[in-house]
Amino acid sequence: MPKTTETVLELNLTALGDNYRYLKSRIKDTTKLLGVVKAFAYGSDSVIIAKELEALGIDYLAVAYVNEGVVLRDAGIKTPILVLHPQSENFEILIDRCLEPSLYSERVLQRFIKVASKKKQVNYPVHLKFNTGLNRLGFNESEVNKIVSELNATSTIKVIYLFSHLAASEDLTEKDFSESQISTFKTIAKNISNKLSDQPKLHMSNTSGILNYPDAQFDMVRSGIGLYGFSNIPEEQKNFTPIASLKSVISQIHTVKKGDSVGYNRAFKSGGAIVTATIPIGHADGISRAYGNGKGWVMVQGVKAPIIGNVCMDMMMINITGIVCKEGDEAIIFGKQNKADTLAENIESISYELLTAISQRVKRVVYRK
Ligand SMILES: *Cc1c(COP(=O)(O)O)cnc(C)c1O
Repeated sequence: MPKTTETVLELNLTALGDNYRYLKSRIKDTTKLLGVVKAFAYGSDSVIIAKELEALGIDYLAVAYVNEGVVLRDAGIKTPILVLHPQSENFEILIDRCLEPSLYSERVLQRFIKVASKKKQVNYPVHLKFNTGLNRLGFNESEVNKIVSELNATSTIKVIYLFSHLAASEDLTEKDFSESQISTFKTIAKNISNKLSDQPKLHMSNTSGILNYPDAQFDMVRSGIGLYGFSNIPEEQKNFTPIASLKSVISQIHTVKKGDSVGYNRAFKSGGAIVTATIPIGHADGISRAYGNGKGWVMVQGVKAPIIGNVCMDMMMINITGIVCKEGDEAIIFGKQNKADTLAENIESISYELLTAISQRVKRVVYRK
């Protein structure tokens, strides 16, 4: 990539392909791969990523909300799209755009059947979600009989997949808990399948589940963070390449005397003569104020430059004392050398939060290499 002259999020589509192929190598040939592209494809760009995944041959996509799926359909994406948490006000649009809902409770199931039957649907494909321990969304095991009788009484919808979600798939100290979730899911699936004429397929694992629980792949797996190049399992990180780099530039350099302050509320007071640089990225772009006052840093000419004072809305200041650099030089917030998950750790956060916070105002630049 040529050096940037403004704040950009660079997206490496070659790395996306590499991550995709690595994940494929970790699953059986018969297991499908679903790419999770919710939240602007983890803060990158959902249309660019979904198109690339479609070109790579991904089997399925998932978003959290209906409007995210509509954006993909508007862009011409034809791959099946699961909507993980559809809101019932949007069920009609969901059907119009051929999106597949996750139905996770009696209330939502009944509501969806009502809307779909009003729209004269027959065998509309749906996924039923079961709660096996995360206690977030999902039917409980005790509801199986009721669900089955409702399903057998309608031809409006057809359950094509049953699914569940692991609560701690990255954490092997919770292996027993994860195994118990998997076994509960198997019991539920067997119980339902025995009572329905058409056998639904199954999916359960997220990225860490794919890596840690190869026996829980079932018919499909769902990967988000792995496609974007992060592994929550440190030993596996070498097999993934982060696709996104967040870069900015030095707008201005100041020499600050001992006792002078930098930024709002005079949060930084200099203990000596220092050199600072101002860069055009702030909390409105997704760099939380929590990174201010030395918690976070950026790379300038390959050297760590700490963020000093409070992060402003559109800018932040860094300490470049001793770094040979000039106005117009790049400042890399995260990239190859300084990974997003490492930066996030400084404020007790995770890659997911830092990536998804990158605001839409930051220009996306795509490249391959
Ligand atoms: C977001 C999400 C995923 C993706 O998880 P990763 O850890 O990013 O692979 C999978 N399944 C569900 C239900 C999700 O909400």
